[in-house]
Amino acid sequence: MMRVLFVTSECFPLVKTGGLADVSAALPLALTQHSVDVRILLPGYPAVIDGLEGRRVVRTLSDLPGGFSGRLLMGRLANGVTAYAIELAELFDRPGNPYLAPGGGDWADNHLRFAVLGWVAADFVQAPSSHHWRPDILHGHDWQAGLMPAYVAFQGGRRPGTVMTIHNIAYQGQFSPDTLSALRLPARSFQVEGVEYYGGIGFLKAGLYYADRLTTVSPTYAREIQSAGYGCGLEGLLAHRTDQLDGILNGVDYGIWNPASDPHLVSRYGPDQVEAKAANKAALQAEFGLEPKQEAPLFALVSRLTWHKGADLLLEALPALFARGGQLVVLGTGDKNLEAGLLRIAGRYPQAAGVHIGYDEALAHRIQAGADVLMVPSRAEPCGLTQLYALRYGTLPLVRRTGGLEDTVIDATPAALADGCATGFAFDEPSSAALTWTLRRAIDLFHHPERWRRLQRHAMTRDFGWAASAQAYAELYQKLRPGR
Ligand code: ADP
Repeated sequence: MMRVLFVTSECFPLVKTGGLADVSAALPLALTQHSVDVRILLPGYPAVIDGLEGRRVVRTLSDLPGGFSGRLLMGRLANGVTAYAIELAELFDRPGNPYLAPGGGDWADNHLRFAVLGWVAADFVQAPSSHHWRPDILHGHDWQAGLMPAYVAFQGGRRPGTVMTIHNIAYQGQFSPDTLSALRLPARSFQVEGVEYYGGIGFLKAGLYYADRLTTVSPTYAREIQSAGYGCGLEGLLAHRTDQLDGILNGVDYGIWNPASDPHLVSRYGPDQVEAKAANKAALQAEFGLEPKQEAPLFALVSRLTWHKGADLLLEALPALFARGGQLVVLGTGDKNLEAGLLRIAGRYPQAAGVHIGYDEALAHRIQAGADVLMVPSRAEPCGLTQLYALRYGTLPLVRRTGGLEDTVIDATPAALADGCATGFAFDEPSSAALTWTLRRAIDLFHHPERWRRLQRHAMTRDFGWAASAQAYAELYQKLRPGR
């Protein structure tokens, strides 16, 4: 059985700030179906150490970057996956957000905290250990694991295969050049063909330079990040490594996101009982104080409220939506100006718009079930999950054609409608005019109930589970297996 160590800074439900945590929990489990023995290495935040079932010390760690020492713990996650945690109180015994200090700024020693993560991962292959589990492949996720491939490149001895996955290229882990020796990187690594990045040390840059193979979370995002608008400075390196870069879609956990068994809904349904969705719409309209009209198309946004997510495009398009009898519900938090703008709209159109500022998992389920259309007008979207949930809930996604949105939603063009393959609506230009035009197209189709129903049924039967993605990762590992 091939052995793979996931090197990651988040894992649901122990520590989560984004989609990386979901992938770190779900993908290892899915890979066990493909004869891959995946274990996870995490920093020992308090929630991680507390959450490790049956934990025991397997090794002491000394002489780490920054001169630290600690212990390697081993245990099990709730889903049965074996996990290791780096117990090192000085760096990781801090509750709350894994990257940010209580004031909201980055922890000043983040370079050391995540260098230690990469170092311990690389050392897994070398160190004689009591548990004799040596990975064939080290698979790092995002900038926090970025130094792992660099450390592997500079250490002698047995060489594992290395993979780096980009979950969001906007976060790169950029640090001062003065940290080079504390990070235990050789002086010769500080160059363009190495860890140097815009005069500093780039953790993600280092990972993308030294890893054997690179992946990101959708085929379209893999193409986009090789160009200036999307690569955030790394486009040149990625274009140079295009032959080693793959886009593999994230999957959905249909155990949690399934309208036929979702405990949060007032009425459960599947593709053969789409009518039963109506009760969820009525309940959602009541919850938000909207006019109780089934014939009003109900649009929803469940999102971080940021410029990247295109929430500002939506604000400008809303008057046109209401003029056509549409309704809106929003669940999100983020940028204060966007929050205020949405709340203002809800105040001005109380019968047509309801806005909940906050993070609420159960409400996200009720909205996916009750709305007619889920909007994802992102300027950039590595994979996106909400549009995949929406498809399963028969809530047609309306998306900007970018990243994973482009790969998972088929626009209801006349040809796609005739063909029966359409699953939603898509627009190209990141402008409120393009969004408005697409909202109108959706409303027009909504008023043809039998056509709408056909789209819903088709959307609900699309499969974006983890099986296909796990297969793709398993094949990638095979190509890299040492001694292949
Ligand atoms: P990103 O990771 O960029 O935020 P994704 O679409 O990949 O975007 O994942 C977002 C996840 O967070 C989804 O599971 C979505 O349901 C959830 N989510 C976002 N905002 C909220 C919120 N305010 N309340 C509840 N869930 C939310």
